[in-house]
Parts: sequence; structure tokens; C-alpha cells
Amino acid sequence: MKPAERVGVRKRLLPGGFFALHITCWRLVMTPRRSWAEPWKIKMVEHLRMTTRAEREAAIAAAGYNTFLLPSALVYIDLLTDSGTSAMSDRQWSGLLLGDEAYAGSVNFYHLEQAVRKFYGYKHLIPTHQGRGAEHILSQLCIKPGDIVPGNMYFTTTKVHQELAGGRFADVIIDAAHDPDSEYPFKGNCDLAKIERLIKEYGADRIPYLSLETNVNMAGGQPCSLENMRATRDLCHRHGVKVFLDATRAIENAFFIKKREPGYADKSLADILSEICACADGCTMSAKKDHLVNIGGFLAVNDDELAERARNMVVIYEGLHTYGGLAGRDMEAMAIGIGEAVQYDHMAARIGQVEYLGCQLIEAGVPIVRPIGGHGIFLNAAKLLPNMPREQFPAQALAAALYVESGVRAMERGGVSAGRDQDTGKNLLPKLELVRLTIPRRVYTQAHMDVTAESVIELYAHREKIVGLRFIHEPKYLRFFQARFEPVKGNKVLLD
Ligand SMILES: *Cc1c(COP(=O)(O)O)cnc(C)c1O
Repeated sequence: MKPAERVGVRKRLLPGGFFALHITCWRLVMTPRRSWAEPWKIKMVEHLRMTTRAEREAAIAAAGYNTFLLPSALVYIDLLTDSGTSAMSDRQWSGLLLGDEAYAGSVNFYHLEQAVRKFYGYKHLIPTHQGRGAEHILSQLCIKPGDIVPGNMYFTTTKVHQELAGGRFADVIIDAAHDPDSEYPFKGNCDLAKIERLIKEYGADRIPYLSLETNVNMAGGQPCSLENMRATRDLCHRHGVKVFLDATRAIENAFFIKKREPGYADKSLADILSEICACADGCTMSAKKDHLVNIGGFLAVNDDELAERARNMVVIYEGLHTYGGLAGRDMEAMAIGIGEAVQYDHMAARIGQVEYLGCQLIEAGVPIVRPIGGHGIFLNAAKLLPNMPREQFPAQALAAALYVESGVRAMERGGVSAGRDQDTGKNLLPKLELVRLTIPRRVYTQAHMDVTAESVIELYAHREKIVGLRFIHEPKYLRFFQARFEPVKGNKVLLD
């Protein structure tokens, strides 16, 4: 894209007013308006280092072609994850100085409890070091061996904790979620017929709860509608099955509801969030996402008895129930972050930036998951590299090649992340074979998005030079984090 055209793109990007129900690209729905800029200014900077291609080739080989194993000092624009990578505000940083580091009953715990009650509406708060700490406790307390846990698509850590507790995950997301080209606006929705079938097949007794994820990560950051969440809750409750929310990105989900679901345009994100939370008996939360902090999470529930059991368990694995593995200062930053995350301007800029990057790629013909989701752009590696066998992990290879090309770090979300079948031991090959370019909150500017788009478009133009990979080391659990690979031929993932 010529620079002049890019300026044109930037001028027309405006958060708010750019979503339509069946959006294909901003061009179709946006009317030219005045320029838009990030709703913050920069107070402290961290220098970025550009590397040479030779340095990056050596680094990715040393990392076993796994972007998780790269030292961040060798990364230029880091889109590995939006987890814990947000820039905190000056108010959050000042909150750190108000840390009350008492072992028990820290002031900051009560601040956080107040914020969770106000915005999420659940009665009991059990802090944990991050989201998986809460998933561990919930799974251990509620799942018995042989149980089935339905969910709207799996999430890696959620599923492994369900399995370690003896349960089995069952996917009940609508079929459209597995189709990267479907433009359905609520691809996170549950398929009620699939839930009913599970209840019929196994009986409600063997289904301790349904795990309802907001803005479904593995589907591409795709939201659920309130209508569907209510129907899911009603169906489950009719059969005595509980519903627990994975509320990690519930506020991003609230933004999409405001934009896309009839009747919510004039409601605040905070009001929509309350309505989402009312669809569940409690939630697990990774505060490293929506809450704009670098560490933290919680379990929140309404049931007194479950809360009592959770408080008893958190003390074994995380810490006392008034800190759960966090410093007092971390809880203060979280409490402040919740209030910032529900601000419309913040969320419009956050999701608008993702949209901005995605539109440039769509314009250039790069296949990505549609509609553009909340926390990142997902390149459709299966479509981008149609001749590479799935057993050679096209998404893993594409992420490695993108790093070599540009120093931009992305991550695989496909066959490697999916792992192996519990019974057969065979590699699971999910329909979605994706590379996720995840956008940290308040960290990068639109200029960084331009550079990222150019890098992906450049690589797309010579994608036939990307070489497939095979495992040389495969960890047992959550293998994508620490696996190592080698090219199936030669010693390069991206030929010269
Ligand atoms: C990140 C994430 C988790 C796990 O949270 P951690 O804080 O990384 O332990 C769970 N669910 C979803 C949807 C997530 O994105």
C-alpha cells in the first residue's frame, strides 16, 4: 500500500460507528470523518531494538522454531499475547504505592472485592495469581472423574484443568465458530441443541457446569450475544446444571454487544457487563487481559458453600484467601484497572486498533478470521499455506517465518495448541489452523500496526518460501508453550 493511501486509511478510522451487523470491512460502513488518535499520551518509553535477518534466523533456530522460546530482547513488535502485556495507567501505577502488604486482610483486597461486586455482581471474591489458578480451584471443586464439561470452544488452560480433575471437555459452540470465513456477528454463541444432546446422552448428573467463555479466544476473539447467554443459562438451570463464566474478556464482549445486538446501543459497558454476569453462577477471571494489569486473576461465585470450599482450597495452592498469590499492590492496580476497562473510549480504541490492523490485511487479500475479533488478528494459515500438510503445522511455521521476516512475534493457534486426543494419543487437527497477532492494550500506536500489516503482506507475497516443521521435543501438558521443532527439510523456516 502506498503511504498516501495509508494516510487515507488512518483518516477514516474512527472507533464507534464502524461496526455493522455483517461487517466485511470498514470501507463498507464508514463515512469519512475527522482523524482519530489514541485516547492517551505517552509518559514513559521503552526502547525497541531492531535486529538483522541473520540474527533472527539464528534466534528462531535456537528457540526450536517456537516463538514462545524467543528472548523478548530479540523481538521488535511483540504480538505474542495480550496477557499481562498491557501498559498500566498513571493511576494504576500510583495505586501500586498504596499496596498494603499485610499478610491478612489487606486494604487492597477490600478495594478489589468492592470493584468485583460493583461491576461483576458476584458475592464472593477469591483472588488467584492468574486465571489458571481460578480454573484449577473451580475444576477440582466441581468436577468428578467421568464428568463432562461443555464449553463454547476449548481454551488451553481451562481444558487441561478440567482433564486433570478427571473431566472431559465437550464443545458446544455453534458450527459457524469453526468456519473462519463465516461473518456471523456472534460466533461465540452456544448451540443449544448440542447442550441438550449432551444432557440427554450423559444425564445432567454427570455435567457439573457449563463453561461459558466471553469473546471466545480460540475462535478469534468472537463475542456471545446476551440473548444466547440467557438462553444457555435458562436451559442449563432447568436441568440443574450450573454455568460458570470465563470472564477474561467479558468487557470486550460487552463492547461488541453494544455495537451489534439490538437494544444495547445506548447502554453503558458497565451495565452490559452486569447483564452478562447475571447469566452465570460465578466466573473465573484472568485479570491480565481486560483489567489492564501485568498479573492477577480471581474466582468469583454467589454460592456460600462453594465459596467456603474455594477459600479453603486457595490457601493450599495460591495463598490466603485475601491475597491468593498476589501482592496487595497488584490487587489495587486490578481494582483501578476494572474501572478503566469499562470506559467506552478505552474499549473503542482497543478494539478499533485491532480492526485497523485487520482491515489493512483484508484489503491486501491476506486470509484472516472474520469478522475481526476483539483482541487480535488471526491469520488463516491453512488457507495461506494450502499445500503444506497439516502434520507439518502450517501455523507454527508461519509464525516462525513472520519473525524471521520482520521481528514481529505472533503465536500459533492450531494443531500444536490443540494437543493430542486423550484416548487415541493422535494429534488433534482442529478446523482452525491460525496464527494470532495479539494486540497488547495501550502499548503500540497505529504506526506499529502499519509496520505489522506491511510485514505480514510482504511475507504473504512470498509465502511459498515457508517450510513446514516437525516436533523434536513435545511436552506432555500445554505443549505449545515449550515444544521444539525443526524444518522438515534444510535448516531454514523461510527460504531466501
Ligand atoms: C488467558 C486466558 C486464561 C488463562 O488465564 P491466565 O491468566 O493466563 O492463567 C483463561 N481463559 C481465557 C479465555 C484466557 O484468554
